[in-house]
Amino acid sequence: MTTVSAVDRWHPSPYAISKAARIIQSGGLVAFPTETVYGLGADALNAEAVKKIYIAKGRPSDNPLIVHVNSILLFKAIVQVNDTALALAKKFWPGPLTLVLPADDIIPSVTRGGLRTAAIRMPDNPVALELIACAGTPIAAPSANLSGRPSPTDADTVLHDMNGRIDMILDGGSTELGIESTVIDVSDPSRILLLRPGGLAAELIEKVTGIKLEIPDELSKKKSPGTHYRHYAPKVPVKIWRKGEPFPSGSGEVAFMGIDDPKGSVLSEPIKYVRKIIFTSTANYAHGLFAGFRKFENENISSIVVQWPDDITGLGAGLRDRILRAAGIER
Ligand code: AMP
Ligand code: MG
Repeated sequence: MTTVSAVDRWHPSPYAISKAARIIQSGGLVAFPTETVYGLGADALNAEAVKKIYIAKGRPSDNPLIVHVNSILLFKAIVQVNDTALALAKKFWPGPLTLVLPADDIIPSVTRGGLRTAAIRMPDNPVALELIACAGTPIAAPSANLSGRPSPTDADTVLHDMNGRIDMILDGGSTELGIESTVIDVSDPSRILLLRPGGLAAELIEKVTGIKLEIPDELSKKKSPGTHYRHYAPKVPVKIWRKGEPFPSGSGEVAFMGIDDPKGSVLSEPIKYVRKIIFTSTANYAHGLFAGFRKFENENISSIVVQWPDDITGLGAGLRDRILRAAGIER
């Protein structure tokens, strides 16, 4: 049985938090809100507990987890922190930035997907931070969805995927950002590798460090195995529409999500797009993408057409990455 406890995001009830923390301490699984998406948490230092995360999600065991901390002290206690990493953590934490660094032995291999490095972040959500504090241990948490599906941005979606698979869900409402954190490898303090674009814009990281972010080649991408898997995919096909180009052809009824209404564009064949969500900005689009996938896939349509975002500043790069993966296109 999975219990769901509603909590106030800003003032979570100590009762719900301590109940969830006891589950974490005894090796169980708790889903909780962060500012990006919902996480599926276990004690990051307990290998048996972490194994349960992979089982609950159906996640391949070589896809490492992000370890969540609530203090710089705890960060320093579990990975080898350098000056670049520390400067970034101090500037952007709590926030949607994950730092990959050489791991200390205290982090079990299963948490790291067998790698020598570990990925660490401090989430910007009082429920998440109090849970970590009360559990007294770092919490490993990937997104709280079945492997390959769109990440959950509210507790109902977590329950849909995880009912009966996990012990508890802390329902703190819908998440602010809607896409996952930016993951960078800072193992070498003079170089920064962008492993996954996400909630924190690359240009902000470059501004603070003065270091140009490197896009990893195929070899170093293998160091972040999870980035290879098909991800974020709704049950119906996803097609991409670029503004100014013909609307993708297809039969049947389609749903559309994007910033510009495509109704003026040349249609290559008669298409009924029966549902649409028009977003007001790139950030608004990122916030609604996964929720839109989840909504439309249940509405008896043949495909979901999404607009290719023109703007790659801010959340644009992360949004492009999620769209390509949902459409099954490798970066
Ligand atoms: P998720 O928690 O589902 O958002 O996935 C976390 C992602 O973080 C993984 O798919 C990896 O791409 C990345 N990641 C986690 N740990 C590491 C690591 N030690 N080295 C490189 N990438 C990592
Ligand atoms: Mg995920």
